[in-house]
Amino acid sequence: MRLHTILKTFAQKFPLKIIEEEVSGIDVTYITLHSKENNILLFKNVLNKNMPILTNIVNTREKIKYILNVKDDSELYKRILDACSNPLRVEELDVSEAEFIKNKVRDLSSLPILKFFPKDPGPYITSGIVIAKGPKSKVVNASIHRLLVLDNKRLVIRIVPRHLWRLYNEAIELKKPLPVAIVIGTHPLVLLAAASSPPFGVNELEVANRLLEGKMKVVMSPLFKIPVPVDSEIVIEGKILLETADEGPFVDATGTYDIVRKQPIVEIEAIWISPNPIYYTIVPSSKEHLLLMGLYKEALVWDYVRRIVPVKKVRLTWGGCHWLHAAISIKKMSEGDGKNAIMAAFSAHPSLKHVIVVDEDIDVDKPEEIEWALATRFQASKDLVIIRGARGSSLDPSADQEKMITDKMGLDATKPLDKPPHEFEKVKISPSIRAINILNKINKY
Ligand code: MN
Repeated sequence: MRLHTILKTFAQKFPLKIIEEEVSGIDVTYITLHSKENNILLFKNVLNKNMPILTNIVNTREKIKYILNVKDDSELYKRILDACSNPLRVEELDVSEAEFIKNKVRDLSSLPILKFFPKDPGPYITSGIVIAKGPKSKVVNASIHRLLVLDNKRLVIRIVPRHLWRLYNEAIELKKPLPVAIVIGTHPLVLLAAASSPPFGVNELEVANRLLEGKMKVVMSPLFKIPVPVDSEIVIEGKILLETADEGPFVDATGTYDIVRKQPIVEIEAIWISPNPIYYTIVPSSKEHLLLMGLYKEALVWDYVRRIVPVKKVRLTWGGCHWLHAAISIKKMSEGDGKNAIMAAFSAHPSLKHVIVVDEDIDVDKPEEIEWALATRFQASKDLVIIRGARGSSLDPSADQEKMITDKMGLDATKPLDKPPHEFEKVKISPSIRAINILNKINKY
């Protein structure tokens, strides 16, 4: 199913906003970061490339729940975790079935690749699903990486030390470049699967197929015979070389410029484009970026903590870049549950920096309620856990970003069980009808 078809179904539920005016990449960034989050955005006139740019298709939990047809958070988490532990083999079609095979272009100049922020060193592909096969392990991996345009035939790829890094190192041992296929624009659930990180050896395309209930089809890319979704809008085939170049500064999930690092160069050998293509992009630091990055980790935190104590809700919070902070509400059963929940959360998500655990009457979607719990239920000398010098995220400018070493902190803001619970409850009034009517009247204007 091509993106056009998916958009049609989507537009019945969420407003599709078509922007006809000519805009720059920086305009796209500004508009996306400030648009109402329900909107799906389609920019028709960017960089004179005759290729519409789509963004904001998976920027809210509601949109993802709609695609997966699930109603609450726990169902959503179960679907993602189940797909990661039960990947489903994907049917392979002949490459002639793919529409992208119809147009081959020589270089990147055909694509509307955006420069998102003023100090970016150049245009970036942010939505590229990079698919590779390990030359030794034969493991197929799909993951999303940012790609800086060096010139019309070369990109620089940021590879954090995870699975693609392992496959690339297999190639380095053989002193050979690593062939990759880079997919831009495909089913949103393939994006979600590629953004998850199941253990090494699990093929994320098979995770996507489980999320799609067996409806996914792949074809082998023409040059390198790497499996790619048959309905891909754009497929770039290239090789990750042993040479490196400067990558960055780039605005990452924190909304700050990430540091400049030497990263591998990708040399492009072919670009395949479907007829009437849609160029899908992820605006850096947008909720789409943050949600894709963090949702799988949020599911893991939920799963680890619920083994220790009943969980009401888990949020990687927006203020914590949907990556560095977790707020968890639990049904506390015995003293110490809060601290065990903190330890479970840190085990589930190694990049986590701060964890706050609260009781189930606190809504962790509301920062003021979390702060209120800290103000009324927390004593630092007893309830604070500090871990020095642990492995953390490379994204936090206050940490050692090269070594990825950081301090961590857990705050147990649950009520102590040895004091009467009513002392900690927010006093509530059942209002009279008269009071409700008066309130409605005075709040009207
Ligand atoms: Mn992987």
